[in-house]
Amino acid sequence: MSKNTVALVDCNNFYASCEKVFNPHLADKPVGILSNNDGIIVALSNELKKLGISRGTAAFKINKHFIKKHDIKLFSSNYTLYGDMSARVMNTLSSFTPDLEIYSIDEAFLSLSGFEHLDLTDYGRQIKKTVWLHTGLPVSVGIGPTKTLAKIANRFAKKHNFAEGVFDITKHPDKDKILRWIEVGHIWGVGRQYAKMLCRNGITNAYELTQVPDNWVQKKMTIIGLRLVKELRGISCIDLEIDIKPKKEIVSSKSFGNPVTELQDLMEAISDYCSVAVKKLRSQNQVASLVIVFLSTNRFKNEPQYANYAKVRLPLPSAYTPDFIHAANRIIKKIYRPGYKYKKVGVMLADIMHQSKTPLDFFQPTYLDDYRKVIMDCMDDINNKMGSHKITYASAGIKKPWQMKREKLTPSYTTSWKHIPVVKAI
Ligand SMILES: [Mg+2]
Repeated sequence: MSKNTVALVDCNNFYASCEKVFNPHLADKPVGILSNNDGIIVALSNELKKLGISRGTAAFKINKHFIKKHDIKLFSSNYTLYGDMSARVMNTLSSFTPDLEIYSIDEAFLSLSGFEHLDLTDYGRQIKKTVWLHTGLPVSVGIGPTKTLAKIANRFAKKHNFAEGVFDITKHPDKDKILRWIEVGHIWGVGRQYAKMLCRNGITNAYELTQVPDNWVQKKMTIIGLRLVKELRGISCIDLEIDIKPKKEIVSSKSFGNPVTELQDLMEAISDYCSVAVKKLRSQNQVASLVIVFLSTNRFKNEPQYANYAKVRLPLPSAYTPDFIHAANRIIKKIYRPGYKYKKVGVMLADIMHQSKTPLDFFQPTYLDDYRKVIMDCMDDINNKMGSHKITYASAGIKKPWQMKREKLTPSYTTSWKHIPVVKAI
């Protein structure tokens, strides 16, 4: 069997770090990123963690004097910025391996099998340095013979200053010592319930878990748990997922910043979400034929409640946005009831297939052969080049009073000409 080597590269405090890249004043400041509608803290810089704030803290619960005293900076989540920075990181990483699995917005597994003749710690440092050079983002690199061990190595690299952000677990003289340091709850794939169960049975760290007989693990944690334990022992059982699986459904929905009561506003919002969802569909070279629209009031509020959804099937699978806006607006008119305060509306595209697989129709050309595709491609080109929403649908409205509350939003530094940072040499 050939040797397996994997690196896990993970951006440190990704959202907060993205904000710091473009605002040098924030370098050593405590930074927190807020959820949709500026509700709770979803990401923190190390400086903010040190002040005892944790993920999930409601922003309004942090004392104003405390914020002022420690000069805490809070921002709305700027997903345009984070998405683009993520793409830049992944692009850089792809030059270090032929096989890359993008695991999340800020994490990727890199296959380094066949690279073992190199000093992999050195190679990891090179990866770290290059990402920093290209993007200004700090990353940690963990290297191991399995994905699970690479995850553990990454955690070690992050938590121990002497590792300077890069750690190869195979190079450590005492691997068991590292595993003893990892609590079971911190092992990749061990959920809270399993962690509790393991602790009840006296298994508190990763090393102890590797010592448990296979049949016990399989009985208590299924075959998936057994796979995980084998990975901890250094036997690779979880392959890299290199092909991006096209999505079976695409959903676009958001909570409103303020409750929406008017049908017209709901129609605008749904048109906007349609354009986002269908653009995504096109970027995967797909068409869809089922449109589902849902809306709901805020169930946490003590006021009249209503939620509903309905669907419409298009005559032929399409990726032409106006087809979907038209269908979605028909649905929303049908399910809208006046007199409610709506919190959320959304659209879901389903029955998705590749554009080349669209069934032929006697009466109209398929999307792939139609002028509709030419129009959409043209629109996507312009928006990709000139910034998103340069060309947009009138039905999505202009003032957009229904938009999310994002009062502390930073500019889209990397994706909008208007927001490009200005550098002054004095
Ligand atoms: Mg991270």
